[in-house]
Amino acid sequence: MRLDSDPTPQKDHDALVELLKADMPEGNLPPKVIPVKVHIIREDDGSGGMSPDLVIPGIDTLNAFFAQTNLQFSLCGGPNFIDNSDFYVVANDPVSQGYGPALSEMAQNNEPDVVNIFVVDSFSSPPPSIFAGWASFPWNQSQYIAIRHDFFDTFTLAHEMGHFLGLYHTHEDLLGDGKEYVNGSNCLSAGDFLCDTPADPNLLYYTDDNCQYVGTLTDPLGDAYQPDVENIMSYSGCVETLFSPQQTRRMNYYLPDLHE
Ligand SMILES: [Zn+2]
Repeated sequence: MRLDSDPTPQKDHDALVELLKADMPEGNLPPKVIPVKVHIIREDDGSGGMSPDLVIPGIDTLNAFFAQTNLQFSLCGGPNFIDNSDFYVVANDPVSQGYGPALSEMAQNNEPDVVNIFVVDSFSSPPPSIFAGWASFPWNQSQYIAIRHDFFDTFTLAHEMGHFLGLYHTHEDLLGDGKEYVNGSNCLSAGDFLCDTPADPNLLYYTDDNCQYVGTLTDPLGDAYQPDVENIMSYSGCVETLFSPQQTRRMNYYLPDLHE
């Protein structure tokens, strides 16, 4: 559920500046179908791995979460099996304390001109293996989505696709001017750099089972947060989540990068 393991805030910020300079397409966006390739990672001896029967349902679920956007995803042939125990449980690099090196190596199996999705067993610990998925940003050198097998057919795949197509978390606070204000006054230079996603304090521990925000947190100006618990790039965990119009435009802006 997190960003690429290589923290590159300067690069991310530069990309954002480019994004803001560019004309994000307005109005009705033409429908686009994006090819995806699913790679199922198994142990060296071919054991384990997600059942291939789950591939089509998972992509159907992905498309359902993108239904209100102009984007849909189409499978490029059947799943590719990669029998390599080094990727089955994604290794944590002892130096960088991240999954980036292992994921970059895994991405050497990428097929060209498609979104490559690697279905793994899990992510090793430490850090605690709570991660359900991991995705590169469009401006990262290696391009991949890695997802735990038991999260493939859930909203998590759509969340990771959002990162892959250039979206930050709605609670992002490490880039630009940092925390976004509730009053929206710094929405273009802080937070996720989008203005139709309200300031979000990170909803991981602040939504209840009914998808209600239960926090009482305030922003740096003292205003109480009124986050959108139904945004797919939040950590609300709500079942029914959507992309905002500006998030959709941002993903469209980054689409050509798929063909790099
Ligand atoms: Zn995430």
